[in-house]
Amino acid sequence: MQLCENANIVISKLEENGFSADIVGGSVRDFLLLKEPNDYDVTTDATPAEMRRVFSDFKILDTGIAHGTLTVLVNGEPYEVTTYRLDGEYTDGRHPDSVSFAKNISEDLSRRDFTVNAMAYNPRRGLTDLFGGREDLSARIIRAVGDPHRRFSEDALRIIRALRFASTLDFSIEDGTATAIKTTRGLIEKVSRERIYAEWKKLIAGVGAYRILSEFSAVIEVFIPELSGMKMPREENFNAAAPEIRELMLFAVNGVSASDYAAAMTRLRTDNKHRKYGEAVLSGAVLDASSELALKLLLINYGSEITEGIVDLKVALGEVSDSVREELAEILASNFPYRLSDLAVTGNDLLYAGLSGSEIGAELKRLLLMVAEGQVKNTKEELILAVTKTR
Ligand code: ATP
Ligand code: MG
Repeated sequence: MQLCENANIVISKLEENGFSADIVGGSVRDFLLLKEPNDYDVTTDATPAEMRRVFSDFKILDTGIAHGTLTVLVNGEPYEVTTYRLDGEYTDGRHPDSVSFAKNISEDLSRRDFTVNAMAYNPRRGLTDLFGGREDLSARIIRAVGDPHRRFSEDALRIIRALRFASTLDFSIEDGTATAIKTTRGLIEKVSRERIYAEWKKLIAGVGAYRILSEFSAVIEVFIPELSGMKMPREENFNAAAPEIRELMLFAVNGVSASDYAAAMTRLRTDNKHRKYGEAVLSGAVLDASSELALKLLLINYGSEITEGIVDLKVALGEVSDSVREELAEILASNFPYRLSDLAVTGNDLLYAGLSGSEIGAELKRLLLMVAEGQVKNTKEELILAVTKTR
């Protein structure tokens, strides 16, 4: 295993100062899978104060200091360096009551969630694999470290993390771990919703998402009760869809209304942009999108981004054919006027034509619809004529 230069700098800096240091967690897992890790975590016996001295020549961020973590920037790349940790008792199933430092790396590794995430690597000492992580990695298995029932009871976020890793890595879940997931699933209600949603987002985007959602729908229903009795969309369409469309497919197939979807997203504390996009796409998806005129009306009412989402969702649900996507692209490429600003008249022109300020918005929209329906051309003369004719 060949560590990158920056990782070697972090490890050797600590070692030169008499400390022990290892790359740990997801970065070791990704390395063994020959994947570029997202980020590097380093675990060490140095305390935060000692780390600060070791890395005095480096830029340090101390956002995680309460958990014994310093982020060291090495050539601009962040390394999270954490003192060996031993979590305290969990009485709320969510946060350890205290964080104490562990004496050695094996204590630190044994508090980690899954065997494939509980390995450490040091260039001189090689791999530290106390729980058979390497074997599980080659057998493509997610297995809890220690007694799964206890580990999920301590921290119920791990339940969703198990599904998330099984989905993104396309692994299966070991039988005992899967059973414990099903029996402890109710504890998810105690977990912070932001953290649930962060894992859900990764879960649903994973290659194995369809399989995991089908097998563990009872777990999903705990935090998204709107999907109770979960019906699944068609597998090949689900797999072909983008993550945000996959989420909407699940809600649509289960007959959840746009406003109930929005309520679910509010409960899960997603950002407004995500919620509003999904709500608009779901509300538009009940409308027709199968003709040129229908697509033009969608564009006028929803704009291009939402209309593209509506079409993607309807294609994914098998309600319209794939070719509707190209049809929409052609309409957009033809410079079809669908925004008020695309009209050959402005609000001012309508004021001159004798409309009052409060009438203008609705009138411009009506003109757009008339242009879409071919009743009038998008020229200033014709539009002004269309305005005055109705008065
Ligand atoms: P990713 O590639 O998504 O970053 P990761 O494995 O690095 O995956 P992180 O959430 O970054 O996941 O966590 C880093 C490591 O910390 C994990 O590999 C695991 O060892 C440990 N860990 C994270 N969350 C938990 C948890 N809830 N319980 C126990 N260990 C955890
Ligand atoms: Mg990580």
